[in-house]
Amino acid sequence: MIFKLIIFAAIGIFIYKLMGGELPRIGKKSKPQKEKKPTGDTMVECCKCGTYVTVDESIMVNGKYYCDECA
Ligand SMILES: [Zn+2]
Repeated sequence: MIFKLIIFAAIGIFIYKLMGGELPRIGKKSKPQKEKKPTGDTMVECCKCGTYVTVDESIMVNGKYYCDECA
């Protein structure tokens, strides 16, 4: 009996993936964005001098953060 449930579940997931959809998740509102985007208050380390600055104060060059002085 339980094997049938597992098979049905697997088929359901398979169909979902075929349709290009993601698995339904409760609480989608909490994280609508998948990409990791730091907010303005996040501290990042300057690539050159190692000083920690907030994202707002930092300058991003080629995907790396620099403080005002180093940039
Ligand atoms: Zn720096």
